[in-house]
Amino acid sequence: MGQLWAAGSAKGAPARLPLVFTALWAAAVSLELGYVLVMGPGPPPLGPLARALQLALAVFQLLNLLGNVGLFLRSDPSIRGVMLAGRGLGQGWAYCYQCQSQVPPRSGHCSACHVCILRRDHHCRLLGCCVGFRNYRPFLCLLLHAAGVLLHVSVLLGPALSALLRAHTPLHAATLLLLPWLMLLTGRVSLAQFALAFVTDTCVAGALLCGAGLLFHGMLLLRGQTTWEWARGEQAYDLGPRHNLQAALGSRWVMVWLWPFLASPLPGDGISFQTQADRDLMAS
Ligand SMILES: [Zn+2]
Ligand SMILES: [Zn+2]
Repeated sequence: MGQLWAAGSAKGAPARLPLVFTALWAAAVSLELGYVLVMGPGPPPLGPLARALQLALAVFQLLNLLGNVGLFLRSDPSIRGVMLAGRGLGQGWAYCYQCQSQVPPRSGHCSACHVCILRRDHHCRLLGCCVGFRNYRPFLCLLLHAAGVLLHVSVLLGPALSALLRAHTPLHAATLLLLPWLMLLTGRVSLAQFALAFVTDTCVAGALLCGAGLLFHGMLLLRGQTTWEWARGEQAYDLGPRHNLQAALGSRWVMVWLWPFLASPLPGDGISFQTQADRDLMAS
């Protein structure tokens, strides 16, 4: 089995390629944002207190975003190193031929990660990693803070972009919003104006995408479902909103959104799960 896992991690390198592209994209947007902020037209001037509060919010959001990205990528959501021998053959257990192992309920094999994932939710294409039992918390917090950072930048640059669009014809403004590269290459806008439109476009689209993902996963979180279970219409593990939140985020589920390194141990082990039927049986 050790050889099998070693083979799995060797195949994992190409799976990290999406992460490289995401990092390059984030670096390009950050560089352009820096260019806009330094060269203008940047955000409207603020008083000292408002500026200090805005900087504090930006630092809080960035630390949370980067901390959760680090935790998400560092955690291994798979069955690697998990002692499964002798625990199988119960309700919901199955045999995975690729992993050559009995695998617990709610787990699933990922063809990109080449291994079974505990409480598999889905494979994140942007970060090149599966979302499962061990990294669901950083994934959700990452969505929240990514949406927050992108919204913050959109609000920061919104007035300057709005002024730029109002200064031109509707056709010029629409083309700048939809095809900023075309406007730059044809010499219709300056590099700073292009960067302003491109960064704001990207941040608004990204904030909407992360916000939609957060709403969807918030719904799953409250229903105690994974994406796969939702797609198949299964809801056997719904223990009620409060217990579902504790099962996915730990006992301090109210606080985990504020700091990525706050300890909030998960009550389960990702191998056995209490079902609705178990709870009904205990209650009767
Ligand atoms: Zn498998
Ligand atoms: Zn995967």
